[in-house]
Amino acid sequence: MTDFDTRIIAPGSTIGIMGNGQLGRMAAFCAAELGYKVHVFGPGADSPTEQVCAKATVADYSDLDALRAFAEDVDVVTFEFENVPHDSVKLLADIVPVRPGWKCLHISQNRLREKTFCNDHGIGTAPFEAVRSLADLGAAVANLGRPSVLKTTELGYDGKGQVKIAADTDLAEAWSEMGGAEAILEGFISFEREISVIVARGVKGDTACFCPVENVHTNHILDVTVAPAEIADDLSKKAEDIAIKLVSAMEFVGLLAVEMFVTSDGDILVNEVAPRPHNSGHWTIDACITSQFEQFIRAVCGLPLGDPAHHSKARMKNLLGDDINDWQAILTEPNAKLHLYGKAEAKPGRKMGHVTWVLPK
Ligand code: AMP
Repeated sequence: MTDFDTRIIAPGSTIGIMGNGQLGRMAAFCAAELGYKVHVFGPGADSPTEQVCAKATVADYSDLDALRAFAEDVDVVTFEFENVPHDSVKLLADIVPVRPGWKCLHISQNRLREKTFCNDHGIGTAPFEAVRSLADLGAAVANLGRPSVLKTTELGYDGKGQVKIAADTDLAEAWSEMGGAEAILEGFISFEREISVIVARGVKGDTACFCPVENVHTNHILDVTVAPAEIADDLSKKAEDIAIKLVSAMEFVGLLAVEMFVTSDGDILVNEVAPRPHNSGHWTIDACITSQFEQFIRAVCGLPLGDPAHHSKARMKNLLGDDINDWQAILTEPNAKLHLYGKAEAKPGRKMGHVTWVLPK
């Protein structure tokens, strides 16, 4: 282990965050509470994170000069956006501790690598095949059947880069929607519910899990999170064990969100992982002793992990696009906590904020 791997980044230091959206913004609030400064790196001025942190570099993720200057200004680098090019991460890691490290990012940036890693560690996923041509797609559909789901292996989120292969879907059309990018075909899982577990792992390998939550998606975008998920204790334990097994196997340092399907026969299959705070963990700000954002800061700085226990139950709803216009009504609800992200333009489907209803335990 190198000094970089276990170094404690003490309060007063500067945390570098790659990515400048709402996740960085909420992490920056917690960094400030613990006495840190944040320097954010990402494209686009007046970003949600830039608005609340000490310093911002507005540059592209592949701008090596800007990255070098950023790395020299900060004491540790982490991510609120994982799709940063490998060469950029490598450059940063030569100068400053980068947590989580590039190997973890490499796995979670690509659906094929992610699912292969899970299966190699005895963790179930949907059955899948790599698709690099229309001929591959035909063969994969013959094996996995219809319905199935075709996804780009990289850069897809909130249902983007995803096509359901139904009984009547034309395969040539589906393949053309991938735009020539490498894809993965997944067998369709008729799940009973979708859950997620957020787990932190510290520099010494210590772990702490938030309780599993249930996620309801509308049009492929997270709509509502119910915390905790109303599932049997043994299932809850099984989900937490999977999350802990994954972070330990990756030697991950930071916060990992693991999205899973619960099938009708009580099986848990991993759908995808995100190596950063996650939308399904926003409820923790108002209902847990330590929020996911504070835990994230603690983990990447090598501090002791906080208590993830919830003191209340919660229901979180995303405010997408024009939903933000309800802000006044939400503010009059006694148990509602409103969080807005400072985004100027309310485009349809854009995450503008969220509301958490804090409920008795
Ligand atoms: P993803 O981008 O992989 O998170 O997928 C977005 C959403 O599509 C998931 O939250 C599920 O609701 C649905 N989905 C993705 N993959 C599958 C699958 N293999 N079987 C059934 N539903 C899926």
